[in-house]
This record gives sequence, structure tokens and C-alpha cells, in this order.
Amino acid sequence: MKTYNAQDKPPVGRFAPTPSGRMHLGNVLCALVAYLSVRKRGGRFLLRIEDLDAARCPRSAADEIIRDLNRLGFEFDGEIIYQSERAEVYREYEKKLENLGLTYPCFCSRSELHASQAPHLSDGSYVYDGKCKRLTKEQADEKRKSRPPCIRLRVPDETVTFADGFCGRQSQNLEKQCGDFIIRRSDGVYAYQLAVVADDISSGVTEVVRGEDLVSSTARQIYLYGLFGEKPPHYAHIPLVTASDGRRLSKRDGDSLACALSDFPPERIIGRLAYAAGITETDAPVKLNELIECFSFEKLNRRITLQ
Ligand code: GLU
Repeated sequence: MKTYNAQDKPPVGRFAPTPSGRMHLGNVLCALVAYLSVRKRGGRFLLRIEDLDAARCPRSAADEIIRDLNRLGFEFDGEIIYQSERAEVYREYEKKLENLGLTYPCFCSRSELHASQAPHLSDGSYVYDGKCKRLTKEQADEKRKSRPPCIRLRVPDETVTFADGFCGRQSQNLEKQCGDFIIRRSDGVYAYQLAVVADDISSGVTEVVRGEDLVSSTARQIYLYGLFGEKPPHYAHIPLVTASDGRRLSKRDGDSLACALSDFPPERIIGRLAYAAGITETDAPVKLNELIECFSFEKLNRRITLQ
């Protein structure tokens, strides 16, 4: 049974893994919740491979992720999107920001940034003090001769507030808590914040479900939507899965899905994750699509631990 009104368009959701290694069960949980949420309302579900940084993200790792997702029962609509193939799209979006007069080149090196800033955001990034914003065109041209700049976007002293579908009301001041942020790195690679918004806009995504570690990126992304004249999607940031000793799962620690897949069949993994997340009441094997009817955000546990 579909729960959206006839006049509403069905939602469009997506899973957007970074193929810097094999997925762990926390990544799978994100895919699971994002999938169930849109499928329950008859929506579309897309797969986007976030391989912007080609050196860290080999195609073989993306292929492995796709194989694992298929094996677990995920079905995707449309073509798979690879960010590594979309620099031209990002360039168009960058141009729009340039035309608004909001971008500037920044020549600060990593060590200069380290020396002058205090770590601020939970993701370990810095609030940039805007040093290069004050360069004249001549000074910037001079500096360009010795080092290629990254491109930053100016942010105003404004607070962005949004209603998160899981975490509730969130707000962040762009100037004080984010600072002018990078949209293109000095090696020409587009930054996550720009690419994710450009892709979600161009694929018509209406709902973003992802790990709570990305909640601190959301204000910057909503700001970008506004500059592009678009309506932001509905966001839900869900808890990161922890191991029974309280440690967050990570690709590095060998918590990869590969280990789980070699020990258990897919229905067992989906069943265990759904139970740990609070979606089901028993730890029993289940097929992904059998969970669609019983899914709701209200059921999700605040802390999700795998025994
Ligand atoms: N690529 C990001 C990750 O793997 C997710 C980005 C997003 O969902 O916006 O953590």
C-alpha cells in the first residue's frame, strides 16, 4: 500500500558510497534505511558511486560494492552514476557560483591552515579565516604563478535551520561554524559538497538518508541549493553502527562486509541489521524486500550496536 497522496510525486532516494574500500555493515544499514524509506512510498532508488578522488577509489572497489549490494537484494533504478565521469556537470555548477561573484581562489597550504585555524567541526575540518578573500586580483595572479589555488565559496553570517527526519531540528551558522568552504581542490578535483548537491539536483533526489557523521555538511549543502535556486531534499541522518565494545565500525578495522558475507548468507545479514536497528522484533533471516511494509523511521533505535 502506498502512503503518499495522489498529488505528491513519489520520492527519489539514493545511496552514495565512496569506494575507498569494501563496505562495512554501517554502510549497508544506510543503504537499507534509505532504500526502505523510498520503496515504502513507491519511490525510486538510485546508486551513485562517489569516486571523485580517483586515486583513492579504484573501479574495482566500486564493482565490489555493486556486487555486494546486488547480493544483498538491493534493486536500483536508472543508470549507476559515477562522479569521476561528471567533472563537466560540476564545472557548470561552479560557473553559476562564479557568476554570482561568490567564489575566490585560495592559496593557503595545508600547513598554513593548520597553523592559523583551530579544529572546529566534528568531521575534523577547519573554519577558514578568509585570508585569501582579501587578495586583490593582481596579488592572486602573482601567486598563481607559483602554486595552483583551490576555489572557495563565500558564506554569509546566516544560520541555516532544517528539520532532520531522524535527529530533529538542526541549525548551523555558516560563517562561524563552517567558514568559506572548498568547492574545487587545487588539483582540479571537485569537492564533495559541490558534487553531492549538483548530482542530487540533476537526478531529482528528494530524500537523503545518510550517516550522522554528515549532519555537519548539511547546512553548507542547503546553502548551495539556495544559490542554485533549488529546493533542498528532505534529510535524515541515522546513527553510525557500533561494535559491541562501543567502537564505530570502520573499513580500516577489518569490519568489512566481506567478512560477514563469507560467514553468513545475505538474508541473515539483512535480518541481523534490521533487528539491531529496531526495524524488526526478532533476529531472524529476512529478504530485503520483505522489510518494506514494516519500515518506519519511528522504529529506528537511537544507538545501533552489532553483537
Ligand atoms: N559518499 C559519502 C559516504 O560514503 C556519502 C555522501 C552522502 O550521502 O551525501 O559517506
